[in-house]
Amino acid sequence: MSTSQLRVIWVYPDLLSTYGDQGNVLVVERRARQRGLAVERHDVRSDQPVPTSGDIYLIGGGEDRPQRLAAERLRRDGGLARAADNGAILFSVCAGYQILGHEFINDLGRREPGLGLLDVVSVRGTGERCVGDVLADIDGSLRLPPLTGFENHQGITQLGQGARPFARVRLGNGNGTGDGTEGAWSGTVFGTYMHGPVLARNPQIADLLLRLTLDVEALPPVDDRWYDALRAERMAAAQAA
Ligand code: GLN
Repeated sequence: MSTSQLRVIWVYPDLLSTYGDQGNVLVVERRARQRGLAVERHDVRSDQPVPTSGDIYLIGGGEDRPQRLAAERLRRDGGLARAADNGAILFSVCAGYQILGHEFINDLGRREPGLGLLDVVSVRGTGERCVGDVLADIDGSLRLPPLTGFENHQGITQLGQGARPFARVRLGNGNGTGDGTEGAWSGTVFGTYMHGPVLARNPQIADLLLRLTLDVEALPPVDDRWYDALRAERMAAAQAA
């Protein structure tokens, strides 16, 4: 942690925040405060520089045009890439995930460069849009319970050698490549297609981000009964569908 306060940066809420992705910021803040950590939150609009001194950066999803604008501005600004180089934790959702990769197809049908912070490439799927509930098992090395979420994307994301799948789907499309992978991660950079918001549905992922920031194996437990009940309900609903 760079200071005694945990610095949480929400990147481009004006462009990238669909399907309740704002909730991810609220959950990280809450989970940190429940452990007695002081949190300083910065919402960085797309006309502002991205500070490089954050501990955790959250990036949400977006429609195709805002996604292109966000990629252009993030490339020009350079702050997010510098923060990642400094070892900051980046957690990205859907359009944000695609932007962290090498490239994606933009709203004009052209290849748009991403930030190259994750070894993934996204193309536009030619089939039906991937929409619906997702159930997935998160990479075992991260020691997290099953992931539940909601996906809504046309993009399909292929992982390179330098990225590991974040999860493997039991239900839903995830990366849409047909190989069962969902999202990607490498070091302290994470990407997922899960909305929901994903951290409200899976707060143990927020705890993972906090553990990585603090460089600790475990955090003091908090009452997760409500979240566990929600996960069980969503898993049952998804399996019944
Ligand atoms: N525009 C992107 C796609 O459709 C991302 C959508 C999203 O963030 N929900 O693939």
